[in-house]
Amino acid sequence: MLTFTNRTALITGAGRGIGKAIAETLAKHGVTVICVSKSAESCGATAAAITASGGKAKALAVDVADGAAVAQACEALLKEFPAIDMLVNNAGITRDGLLFRMSETDWNDVIATNLTSCFHWTKLIGRPMTRARWGRIVNITSVSGVMGNAGQANYSAAKAGMIGLTKTLAREFAGRSVTVNAVAPGFIKTDMTTEFVNNPEASAKILEAVPLRRFGESADIANLVTYLCSEEAGYITGQVFNVDGGMAM
Ligand code: NAP
Repeated sequence: MLTFTNRTALITGAGRGIGKAIAETLAKHGVTVICVSKSAESCGATAAAITASGGKAKALAVDVADGAAVAQACEALLKEFPAIDMLVNNAGITRDGLLFRMSETDWNDVIATNLTSCFHWTKLIGRPMTRARWGRIVNITSVSGVMGNAGQANYSAAKAGMIGLTKTLAREFAGRSVTVNAVAPGFIKTDMTTEFVNNPEASAKILEAVPLRRFGESADIANLVTYLCSEEAGYITGQVFNVDGGMAM
């Protein structure tokens, strides 16, 4: 049994997929969860489902790629929740294409949503966390950021950037007992990967590179994130954990 004592977590991208599973799993452990997504419908649905099953949740619709909107949302949020003990930077998008065909808009959108959003949220939520001298930050990166992936120059650069950010902030925040780690999923069955998972040829090719020969589930990521957020994980910081069926050994 993991220990969580009156803790509150903010999870970005909690409307669907991996972020939703993280919010639900933390809530099952008694953590109050603030579920962020771009659309009010999806974070609202996650928060409503958690509340309906006896958990504590709040929905917050904000575009994580918009630094001013994030700052405005955080100002109001920190009045309601002066102590947000855990931050999971999970919101992400892909806009795939080979470099010579990639537009600057696709480059900028992916960097802003996946990487720059972590800079904004961590500055805003991390400050009260370091003052409280306890905190957990988990950044959801990707095997693409660890290994690179043809067709994902923007995404793999953003995800590799998150790894650099994780290691640096782990060093900056260590004196305040705030841990910062990254989780790098492989191919997980969510809306993001539907087109590959549902295509027999594409999925057979992908699974050739996965020693466990299957796609992962959102719960595979949520279970590790929950552990990393717990009291028990207090001596782990600056690490990148691949959860990928052995892809990036
Ligand atoms: P998903 O099913 O597409 O869900 C993405 C979530 O992020 C949604 O809730 C979405 O909000 C939110 N989001 C996207 N852009 C946003 C923005 N600008 N502002 C606020 N929220 C935004 O994705 P997923 O597969 O769960 O992926 C979660 C994370 O894991 C991502 O960072 C992804 O890069 C990473 N990852 C996934 C895989 C995989 O195989 N699935 C592999 C490696 C890494 P709405 O619901 O409002 O649209």
